[in-house]
Amino acid sequence: MSTANSITEKTVKTRKVEVSPDWCAGCGDFGVLSSLNKATLDKDVKSHEMLIVSGIGCSSNLPGYVNAYGVHSLHGRALPIATGAKLANHNLKVVITGGDGDGFGIGVGHFIHAMRRNLDLTYLVMDNEIYGLTTGQASPTTMKDTKTKTTPRGNVEQPINPLMLALVSGATFVARAFSGQPAHLSALIEQAIAHKGFAFIDVFSPCVTYNKLNTFTWFKERIYKLDDEAPDRDPTDLPDAMSTAMEFGDRIPIGLIYKVDKPTYEDSEPVLLDGPLVKQSLGIKKALFEQLLEETM
Ligand code: SF4
Repeated sequence: MSTANSITEKTVKTRKVEVSPDWCAGCGDFGVLSSLNKATLDKDVKSHEMLIVSGIGCSSNLPGYVNAYGVHSLHGRALPIATGAKLANHNLKVVITGGDGDGFGIGVGHFIHAMRRNLDLTYLVMDNEIYGLTTGQASPTTMKDTKTKTTPRGNVEQPINPLMLALVSGATFVARAFSGQPAHLSALIEQAIAHKGFAFIDVFSPCVTYNKLNTFTWFKERIYKLDDEAPDRDPTDLPDAMSTAMEFGDRIPIGLIYKVDKPTYEDSEPVLLDGPLVKQSLGIKKALFEQLLEETM
């Protein structure tokens, strides 16, 4: 676990750390990192107020590149860890970052259950439609017929539609972005962080090394901004959001797809009515607490 120690006036103004990203030159994840930093700085989120949790994959290295609390956890397990952290300390801004394989493959069960609970979390998926870290296998969002290391004759499986999955699972903020449009992405992250409830952004973040189909150019030729072409859309209209989420072909919308306000898990769970767990008494004697600590640490 990295910590936001040495918080000074200077460091709270920047998220920079001494470690540089080990991503390939041109990887889409650079745009997500800079957009996240810009959004959180613009929202004046201090380093010691933010926790970034990730799973495993190229994009899951992100917490190590930001001056904030961070957990680089297990494959597909970022959401349960983020859930625990948020329940323990509601004051933290908890952001989860990872890839499509981590989130929609190994971690898909956690993805669904975190959304139906409407925990106040922000989940950014760097969706490159391939397993990058393991050098180019088909992922849950790899398009049909795509040739990869594991599908040399073309992918026979239908890809997951993450936006539809989020909409039917109860996410209260659903958006799509493109790392090649960092200002647009940063503005969406600001909205997601401000949203009280589960906010999910599926970010097209091209893998320039192993996905030669879904490139920056491929996306640029297809994406359009909902704000430009449908400024009067009602983002609380679920059927319209579903119809928008289904559009994936010659034209692909980016922007806010859906947003509603509903009670969060933290606000609904009776055990948490007395405040975050870190502020509550354990309700056991000190001697027993120390004995438990001894046994478990
Ligand atoms: Fe990015 Fe792909 Fe390189 Fe991983 S392998 S760092 S996803 S370009």
